[in-house]
Amino acid sequence: MPELPDVVAYVEALQPRIVAQAIRRVRIESPFVLRSFEPPVEAVEGRAVERVGRLGKRIVLELGDELFVVIHPMIAGRFRWLAPHAKSPGKITLARFEFDTGVLVLTEAAQKKRASIHIVQGGDGLGRHRPDGLELLDPRETHVLGEDNTGAAASVREFAAALRSGNNTLKRALTDPHRFSGIGNAYSDEILHAARLSPVTLTSKLNEEEVARLFEAARGALAKWIAELRREFADHFPGAGEITAFRPGFAVHGKFGQPCPVCGAKVQRIRYAENETNYCPGCQTGGRLLADRSLSRLLKDDWPRSVDELEERG
Ligand SMILES: [Zn+2]
Repeated sequence: MPELPDVVAYVEALQPRIVAQAIRRVRIESPFVLRSFEPPVEAVEGRAVERVGRLGKRIVLELGDELFVVIHPMIAGRFRWLAPHAKSPGKITLARFEFDTGVLVLTEAAQKKRASIHIVQGGDGLGRHRPDGLELLDPRETHVLGEDNTGAAASVREFAAALRSGNNTLKRALTDPHRFSGIGNAYSDEILHAARLSPVTLTSKLNEEEVARLFEAARGALAKWIAELRREFADHFPGAGEITAFRPGFAVHGKFGQPCPVCGAKVQRIRYAENETNYCPGCQTGGRLLADRSLSRLLKDDWPRSVDELEERG
């Protein structure tokens, strides 16, 4: 979180507001957020933003002469767009970028600060922030930055190879940033529901037809939600609480106990690590309720030890 549709929404909200605008001043309010030392933050002041794009879940401001600002929101990092000279929200502000057109504020409302900013010089430096997960949609339409953005979206064969690169639960495989770009806890639940597959099915158990169905479901769910968010934020910058893993239009994610919009069965959950996965027994498990405790253990054992490990590579 934020996942691909959220990151695309941020990129598209930023483009008309800051492209061709000079960064007048940068204020780092929480020193830990800045993880690079060279070039210094002053190097970006006075520079105009040439492009806004993304690398995985990172938002990248390209300033020309191979100078980049790379912002990784991790789990709780969010952006706000304020009027010029407006004060930023107190304790949760990590950094502010001041433009003539307004102020871009990076916030993080969490005890543990995970979001990061890197000031990067050179294409090689930028390459280190490029995750290796497959892009399931057209990289140009989803604003992937760099030479690769002329590449094609992954094919079903590439998808199948990435999916089966380890024998894991589908939930784990879909959210693995080494395999796929931009899919997290919320959209993996929605994708698995659309594909009518159980989150705890192992990748090795899927036949070709199921893999193809999962591929189409993944592309379909991501494209659908990119379009939904595009409509939602057409007239305003995403506000506080509007980039969220809990959307009224979701079928199963965050809908524990509510009726499935397809079959009406009650949405169930499996809790593991710091997360829970939601599924519809009617659509995804042939009506079976998955026993929470043993499946929690299965998912937990299939999970990286820390949430940072999962997010940082995304
Ligand atoms: Zn259902």
